[in-house]
Amino acid sequence: MNLTPDQTPLKICMVASEVVPLAKTGGLADVVGALAVEFAKLGHDVCAMLPAYRQIDELGYRMTDGVVLSVPGAHGSIDTRVQEVFAPPLHVQGPGRLRVFVVRHDPYFSRSGLYQEAGRDYPDNLDRFVYFCRTVMEMLIHLGEHEGWQADVLHVHDWQAALCAVYLRTLYQGRPSLSRTRSVLTIHNLGYQGLFPSAQFSSTGLPLHLFTPAALEFYGHVNMLKGGLVFADLLTTVSPTYSQEIQSPEYGCGLEGVITERKRVLSGIVNGIDTENWNPATDQYLVASYDASDLAGKARCKKALQRELGLRPLKWPLLGVIARLTSQKGIDLVIDVLPELMELDVQVVILGTGEPHYEQQVGELAQRYPGKIAVRNVFDEGLAHRIEAGADMFIMPSRYEPCGLSQLYSLRYGTVPIVRKTGGLADTVVAYTPKTFKECRATGFSFTDSSSASLLTCLLLALSVYRKKADWQRLVRTGMAQDLSWSRSAATYLQLFRDVIDRKSERQG
Ligand code: ADP
Repeated sequence: MNLTPDQTPLKICMVASEVVPLAKTGGLADVVGALAVEFAKLGHDVCAMLPAYRQIDELGYRMTDGVVLSVPGAHGSIDTRVQEVFAPPLHVQGPGRLRVFVVRHDPYFSRSGLYQEAGRDYPDNLDRFVYFCRTVMEMLIHLGEHEGWQADVLHVHDWQAALCAVYLRTLYQGRPSLSRTRSVLTIHNLGYQGLFPSAQFSSTGLPLHLFTPAALEFYGHVNMLKGGLVFADLLTTVSPTYSQEIQSPEYGCGLEGVITERKRVLSGIVNGIDTENWNPATDQYLVASYDASDLAGKARCKKALQRELGLRPLKWPLLGVIARLTSQKGIDLVIDVLPELMELDVQVVILGTGEPHYEQQVGELAQRYPGKIAVRNVFDEGLAHRIEAGADMFIMPSRYEPCGLSQLYSLRYGTVPIVRKTGGLADTVVAYTPKTFKECRATGFSFTDSSSASLLTCLLLALSVYRKKADWQRLVRTGMAQDLSWSRSAATYLQLFRDVIDRKSERQG
């Protein structure tokens, strides 16, 4: 959706603790980086802000000297440098513009991790991200006063940036540079809320009357995400189904009441994927390329994958799993069904790191079934691509899944996803039924109950369809034909932005 002649470009400021390729621990970074680029390509004037972590300095991208702002901190004002960084993947050749700024305060951000070290969260995480959010607000005022650049939309992501939405309507209310700014909070995973002891509330600089259950208090703790949920003008999350689920106690992580109260301003928008990096026709990690019109390369990828993993070179269906080995991902369900699955002519590959007991259990299964199960407990981007290409099916039995990327890669690579019907998995995989298949809509298989019995039943159905070669090919091709690009998601975000700009802010009265 390019700008029409009567549409003015929007000024959008995106705030997040991670943006690819500068800093990444998860899907958040991919989403923010890709969306920022997409908005700019569509003609909008975008800036993105994140902390200047040590790992960003180590990447060696060129940076400006930047500006020095006086930022109110927990223990007095701090002179803070905000620098523009030039990272080529975030470059935009188009009508719009994208600038990326990093907030430098080395005592807070020049550390080996983003949020934690040796598995332990940094004890001053509240101070670090309060300070980050305040710097963003000061920078917006600076851009307004010195460049006449006034953000239409302040798009903040997850708990680390949520406080910006609170500041906009409290400490910074009435500032001329921010008078037309509307805030949008995107929830990528409600499981991470930024919870801190009540004693740290004063560090936020917010008046004490906001430490109540109607604002930032959550059972005696400070809850940063909750602040954003209460104060943002618009809320989004990363799939329509997840936006419904988080209004229920089962998925709401204790915030279902607040979210339900604001459901009028809540939308779900499915993420896109990086269709250049994840493209079986050009993927540099693969021994052979392929597309929907010629799948011969996929068969070669499968053989190469079997060789690489020490699996026997059989024509059996090969099932892949790539995931953080956590209970969120339902990895225990996979572990439960594997012994029964091994009675059949199938092979399985599991790539993932995570909770040590799961790593140990999958390792033991690989030893028990050599040549049939392969396990790699490493983070290996190349192998992830080769599994997406070489496997026939991809198993994703998540307990909850805000959006999920892996099943989208699977669709693109002609690897039929087998998913639990939740969150983004429910929205992106059309489950095989006689009807959906006949209508050429089916792209995978899904089950509802979070149980190994349901997963096994679903797998057996998938295996029975796999044996009918023409039917299987139709599933593969329907999946590969899906539009998974960012352009659709970006257009939906932009429409919501325009709606919220047109609407008088609820919080301004
Ligand atoms: P989440 O962000 O909850 O972990 P997603 O499915 O949204 O789940 O994204 C996971 C991403 O991380 C995918 O791109 C997947 O390929 C990748 N990934 C997960 N584990 C590994 C691993 N061990 N090696 C390589 N890539 C991995």
